[in-house]
Amino acid sequence: MDEKDDTQPESQQVGVDPAELTRTISELKRELDELRGRNVELENRLSGKDPRAVQDVSVPVEAATTISDMDATLRRLVQRIAMILQAEKVLMMFFDREAGELMGIPPAYGLDEDIIRMVRVRATHGISGEVFREGRPTIFHDAVTDKRTEGDPFSLLHVHNGVTVPLVIEKRDDENRVIDRTTIGVLHAFNKRHGEDFNDEDVHLLERMAKSAASIISNLRLYQEIVEEKEELLQTLESLYAGLVVTSNEGRVTQMNASARAIFNVTSEVIGRDVRDVILDDEIRALIVSAQEGNEGNQTEATISTDGRMERTYNVQSAQVKNEEGRQIGVVTIFNDVTELKNIERMKSAFVATVSHELRTPLTAIKGFVSTLLMNDDFPEEDRREFYTIIDHECDRLTRLINDLLNIARIEAGESLKPHYSDVDVRALCKKVALIQQQASHNHQLVLDAPDEFPVIVGDEDKLDQIVTNLVSNAIKYSPEGGKVTIHLKMDDDHVLIGVQDQGIGIPKEHLSKVFDRFHRVHNEDNRKIYGTGLGLFLVKHLVEQIHLGKVWAESEVGVGSTFWVRIPIQLDVAKAEELNK
Ligand code: ADP
Repeated sequence: MDEKDDTQPESQQVGVDPAELTRTISELKRELDELRGRNVELENRLSGKDPRAVQDVSVPVEAATTISDMDATLRRLVQRIAMILQAEKVLMMFFDREAGELMGIPPAYGLDEDIIRMVRVRATHGISGEVFREGRPTIFHDAVTDKRTEGDPFSLLHVHNGVTVPLVIEKRDDENRVIDRTTIGVLHAFNKRHGEDFNDEDVHLLERMAKSAASIISNLRLYQEIVEEKEELLQTLESLYAGLVVTSNEGRVTQMNASARAIFNVTSEVIGRDVRDVILDDEIRALIVSAQEGNEGNQTEATISTDGRMERTYNVQSAQVKNEEGRQIGVVTIFNDVTELKNIERMKSAFVATVSHELRTPLTAIKGFVSTLLMNDDFPEEDRREFYTIIDHECDRLTRLINDLLNIARIEAGESLKPHYSDVDVRALCKKVALIQQQASHNHQLVLDAPDEFPVIVGDEDKLDQIVTNLVSNAIKYSPEGGKVTIHLKMDDDHVLIGVQDQGIGIPKEHLSKVFDRFHRVHNEDNRKIYGTGLGLFLVKHLVEQIHLGKVWAESEVGVGSTFWVRIPIQLDVAKAEELNK
């Protein structure tokens, strides 16, 4: 017994002293009870997947320390087992139900972590399997000759002899009677020191220690599961698109997800602060108070703008949060961004107003001239011609509007505007459009800026006409002071560029890409008196992208003018385009 083991000094000091043993065991028991108590408390708090249970954000920190506490206790326990049993190595194996295997789990004693993780035995094999299945401890004196060790990874672990006991969790009732036993794995002590052999006393001791170990392991696992579940839930809430704020009964913020923090422009440091410091909007505050008081159906619409950002509108709902016993633990408030919906609503009513106007104006003109013609037969031929021309013109305007509306309806329904492809002389087409549009205004000077030789492209002539007509009529419409409207034609690799440039009111930067959205119109002093439906450019974009596989964009400077560019291939891939517009 005088052989000194430097790596395990304690083992020499403690020895197998029964008094010391009893003390150790009771000490461990106390530690365990304490942990169990804390565990139960946490379990109660975290029980269920209900978001209502997530009111306490301080839990993860507390959980982590407790887990490491438990882990440390387990490590100490394993060390003590080695000391008390005078074993060189101690290994715990846990039953992995899915794999049907017992696998090594840390902490161990006298074995590398890497090795522990490699240790696996089928639950039908070896001494490990036998002890696990039968729930009875066993001793083996010679790992090499003992037939039962077949399948155990004992040579990998350099095992000569050992004692193996089941790791059993016992559930007890109030009177401390065992009501349920589950075997979760096995506990091995290997290689009795000083060349000795394990005996029945060792079995007895190890069985007692195994109870504590099993209990800690199961608590640890339960605990980890709870923590992981909670983490998952927190992550889910954190990444919700809707903003979410949870407040305690005292009105303190206990949770605020990323969306909510962005809405109120705050960091996660707001946790624990009075919600009134975070949410300044009176209406939302009142909503939270109302939910706190137990009222139902707390809902409002609030417009929130944080400095420097655009205003956004939220649908806000507050509800009381109760725990499983029905006790109120706080209030949850959800913010849904309805800005886009509101915008569409607004645009739709503006659209109805403008369409009515666009319908009424030509109709009024038509009716006016027809009535005049009916009332009086002796207008000079020249006047009559002028009246008829105006009527003709207004009828065209009506037809255009109705066609636009029908086309939009078709695009929205996902139908195609059936293309008819042929060779198109873009130069001739633009020249024709310029001539026709010049009729509409004497205030504007229409110019074609194109090389004499310009390629004939493959496209849908009617629709190309619509595109250019639309852009040119916009150029005229949005330069009320008159000026030059230039149609540029350019080559760009295997594409042609059609540009329509005006010297009009221009488009503010933030609207440049949006003008292609349906119903989108710029509303400002310059635009106020210019009527339109906000549909023209939406159609243009569709005709360019979908029918001609091209691109359209706008360049503009407010007060100077705008240029709309269309870029389409010279040799359209007709098969591809037809497939796309089937
Ligand atoms: P509409 O002209 O019927 O309103 P469009 O879809 O053709 O609809 O145009 C959308 C918006 O884009 C217009 O309301 C206007 O604000 C802006 N816009 C279009 N073309 C021009 C242009 N050439 N110059 C200035 N603004 C323009």
